[in-house]
Amino acid sequence: MKRFEIRSKQDKQSKRLKETLYQRLIELSFIHDEQNPDFVISVGGDGTFLRAIHQYMNQVDTIRFVGIHTGTLGFFSSYDGDECEAFIQDLINKRLECKELPLLDICVQSQKGNEHYYALNEMRVENVIRTQLIRVSINQEYMETFRGTGLCISTQAGSTAYNRSLGGAILHEGLDLLQLTEITGIHHHAYRSLGSPLIIGHDAQITLESDDFCEAILCYDQLSIKLNKDSKIQCQHSEKTVHCVGRPNTSYIKRLKSLF
Ligand code: NAP
Repeated sequence: MKRFEIRSKQDKQSKRLKETLYQRLIELSFIHDEQNPDFVISVGGDGTFLRAIHQYMNQVDTIRFVGIHTGTLGFFSSYDGDECEAFIQDLINKRLECKELPLLDICVQSQKGNEHYYALNEMRVENVIRTQLIRVSINQEYMETFRGTGLCISTQAGSTAYNRSLGGAILHEGLDLLQLTEITGIHHHAYRSLGSPLIIGHDAQITLESDDFCEAILCYDQLSIKLNKDSKIQCQHSEKTVHCVGRPNTSYIKRLKSLF
């Protein structure tokens, strides 16, 4: 853990904190290396942390990520903006605890071939132009045909993000499960789908198919791509995880309380 990079939100407080951290780490003989860092510090919010992960997705196996939150305590950070020195002390005294956060592996199959995308929070298939029909299978077994705006599949870490706004359950830290939630599903005498959020096992695979995904978008964390008419989406936990380091024994309930 010698080479570092700092990614920050663009507000004044985060930029100032980034500068302070940079100076302190250089004084302590750490090496700034944007290309091949051992650890990446994200200064800002959970959104900034997500962006840092995606910027280094191809090196996610080797990099440790640490979040310093400049707002309230975040889900990906265990230090707030006033605790820079506490972080430095934990770093040099090797007191940082590493948590493995599972990523979603989203495989989009179409005539063009297979493309893999990764997400820490969630993936969503959304069509805001017209009613989207989606056939849903769990572990290759057909479950339902959904009609509405779309579907969201979230990880435990993402359960407090978009999933929560959709009325999904929050999964306590350690429950590495998948959650499938509807985005404005149509429910009447002709069309019915489950309606409730569905929580399924860590190793489950969810398949989403449609005769027409034209105008639909696949969103994964803050990123998105347009789907092709014939796309088929398979989503499951990836073998890749994010190595998230921070203060040991940070209370999950304390983080949860910062949400409301
Ligand atoms: P963003 O501005 O980066 O984030 C939107 C809000 O979601 C921010 O307040 C952010 O917290 C919070 N957030 C992100 N991940 C979270 C998590 N795991 N637990 C609790 N809160 C979390 O938005 P974006 O760039 O469009 O998308 C990034 C993520 O934001 C998405 O993965 C999605 O889950 C979430 N989002 C949620 C909604 C919603 O709930 N309606 C709408 C858009 C996006 P900070 O303020 O700490 O950065």
